[in-house]
Amino acid sequence: MNGQHFLVTGGAGFIGSHLVDALLEAGHAVTVLDDLSVGKPQNFAHNLTHPYFHFVQGSILDKTLVTQLVAQVDGIYHLAAVVGVKYVVEDPLRGMQVNVRGTETILETACARRCRVVLASSSEIYGKSAGVPFAEEDVTVIGPTSVPRWSYAVSKLLDEHLAFAYYRQEELPATAVRYFNAFGPRLDPRGYGSVIARFINQALDGQALTVYGDGQQTRAFTFVADTVRGTIAAMETPKSAGQAFNIGNPREITMNELAAQIRESVGADVDIVHVPYAQAYGTAFEDTPRRLPNVTRAAEILGFRATTSFEEGLRQTILWFKEHRDA
Ligand code: UDP
Repeated sequence: MNGQHFLVTGGAGFIGSHLVDALLEAGHAVTVLDDLSVGKPQNFAHNLTHPYFHFVQGSILDKTLVTQLVAQVDGIYHLAAVVGVKYVVEDPLRGMQVNVRGTETILETACARRCRVVLASSSEIYGKSAGVPFAEEDVTVIGPTSVPRWSYAVSKLLDEHLAFAYYRQEELPATAVRYFNAFGPRLDPRGYGSVIARFINQALDGQALTVYGDGQQTRAFTFVADTVRGTIAAMETPKSAGQAFNIGNPREITMNELAAQIRESVGADVDIVHVPYAQAYGTAFEDTPRRLPNVTRAAEILGFRATTSFEEGLRQTILWFKEHRDA
């Protein structure tokens, strides 16, 4: 083996499993740590016979296990987390425990070896800020603590603060990557993690597409192959340590446009309906009105730019859903 050995936490999940494929493809060895709470065996089944792939079912909260695994690797991609607005809204306590304690365990353990860490963060941390496009040094606007949704943003902000405190005070080479709405094959078919999965499933089932609110809210959907390239670039760029990077495709789309495009691409004869937020998530809910990345820092320091068009990404995703959604 010519490559390095990486630990990928959350490597059975949507982004994590694509990252694992890319690392193996590049000649690296990979150990995955995943508790399979959301990640799925089907996402890595094709790698089980690979000589440099190793899967461990377990939790990032298990410090003994994490210490053992970290001792064997050159770098850590830390993607394990409770993600997805619906999961977070339904169980904010578990979200914060896993996302804060788990990350602390990973960073503390990595620190003992000064092991390179790339921490998966989120565009959610920009909250309700109206200042699009969002740049990494911008002020963030997080809503009140009476709204459980924001606990995810706060947990990821705390993760970044922890990582950068370890960087400054303990010389831990840690980089944060802020993902902007990744999508692609292997999206959770239940649609918990993404509006794209929900709309595709609804269209394939011949059901109405449920646009929440007035549908004028926007997102910058990023094809997972691009998300993975940006993540690997962060690991491979030593001077990225101590900084956060937006990893996203700077194309802004409203949910109304998204619904229309998915309905057309699937070729479904279905309605598009508007559902009040309160009905979808309960009364204590607030949405991010616009989300768009400023990608200058990632381009300048990581040499990264998203290259897959939204249309091409959507085509590949719909194809995958048609073939796999019952799996
Ligand atoms: N959304 C929607 N219909 C759905 C699910 C989600 O209109 O069935 C909206 C949601 O309110 C948000 C956007 O789609 O404005 C993106 O939601 P998602 O859960 O994919 O991720 P977020 O970017 O909010 O973390």
